[in-house]
Amino acid sequence: MLALTTFMSKNDKLSQDISRDWKTLVEFINVYCSNRHIDSDKNLFDLKTHNIQEIYGQDVFLCPSCSKLLAHALTKRSYCPMHPKPACRRCPDHCYSPAYREAIREVMQYSGKKLVLSGRLDYLFRLLF
Ligand SMILES: [Zn+2]
Repeated sequence: MLALTTFMSKNDKLSQDISRDWKTLVEFINVYCSNRHIDSDKNLFDLKTHNIQEIYGQDVFLCPSCSKLLAHALTKRSYCPMHPKPACRRCPDHCYSPAYREAIREVMQYSGKKLVLSGRLDYLFRLLF
C-alpha cells in the first residue's frame, strides 16, 4: 500500500486539513508520552501507511501503548468521512472504540494544556475531545 502522504496532492484543501490533523495527533501524543511515560521503553514509531518524517519533520519514539493509540488515531483521521470535519467531541458518529476514545481525550487535555502554557501551540486544532 502506498503511503497516504505520497499520493495526496499538496495543494488540495482536504489533504492540507488532514495533514495538519495528523501533525497535531503526532505532536499531542508525543508530548503526552514524553512527559507521562518517562520510564517506559520507547521505540521508533513506524506505520506503513503514514510517513512520520514527512508529517512531523522528525522521528518519534513512543511507548507501546502510545504507539497503538497513535496508529489508531492516524488511521481514523485518514478515513474520517466528515468534510469539513467537526471537532471530534461534537461528531454525531464517534469512530474510536471506547478505550481509545478515553485515552485520546486524556492526551488532548494533558498536551493541549501543556502546549498552550508553553506557547508551542502554533496551529489551530479541531481534534479536541
Ligand atoms: Zn506513552
